Amino acid sequence: MRLTILGSGTNVHPARAASGYLVRTDHTILLDFGPRTLANLLKTGVNRHRITHILFSHYHADHFSDFITYFFDAMIFTKYQGGKRPPLTVIGPRGTKRLFRALFATLPGFTHAPFAVHFKEVADRAFAIGKTTVIPRTVTHTQNLHCLGYRIEYGGKALAYSGDSQYCDSLVRLCGDVDLAVLDCSFPASRPNPVHLHAGQCGQVAREAGVGRLVLSHLYPITDRYNVREQAGEAFAGKIVVGRDLMAIKL
Ligand SMILES: [Zn+2]
Ligand SMILES: [Zn+2]
Repeated sequence: MRLTILGSGTNVHPARAASGYLVRTDHTILLDFGPRTLANLLKTGVNRHRITHILFSHYHADHFSDFITYFFDAMIFTKYQGGKRPPLTVIGPRGTKRLFRALFATLPGFTHAPFAVHFKEVADRAFAIGKTTVIPRTVTHTQNLHCLGYRIEYGGKALAYSGDSQYCDSLVRLCGDVDLAVLDCSFPASRPNPVHLHAGQCGQVAREAGVGRLVLSHLYPITDRYNVREQAGEAFAGKIVVGRDLMAIKL
């Protein structure tokens, strides 16, 4: 399994794209698709038309907005440029079908794409994409919003992605014994925020879950002024990496 960080920042960051991750197993999968991640996807050299599944954690714009550009391009590619691509399955939390049906009904041409598009809502139940196992888990982020973290297992390795999350038991369970956990490290420990993890809590989750390697991501600009790696390291003795765009990690 290979992970490439397409975006390690958030909505507005001068140097980092917002949330997005490319995961390659027996399928080419995206975890979230925030602003500026499509440009980074192009830089990876991976054929964007091979993506078969996009898994959304939630629909705050920093996790979602490049889907629109991506889909518009896929439509032109298949409809007017003779391109072929496999069906696309969009997976996400409660509200996924309502959101995408409204978008597709409103945006010009979206309902006329000449390839199959499926929308699927998931909660806390494992499912398979070919030989890849995906385990979504509800995490706590903002009030009344269904937010998911994802655990992806393939070839004897496991990866966990928190999406946006506060510290919660569910997140610790999601990350249980994974080889690699990518966690929402929005803020330094000394500048916490109630709806996101801070660096110290990322370390705490990694320790409690017995994570192999911890990647700090979803970094707000303020984190650049602090040593978030050291702050996470106060709670977690394992390997800690501060994520950056286009960083590739093999599991
Ligand atoms: Zn969010
Ligand atoms: Zn976010």
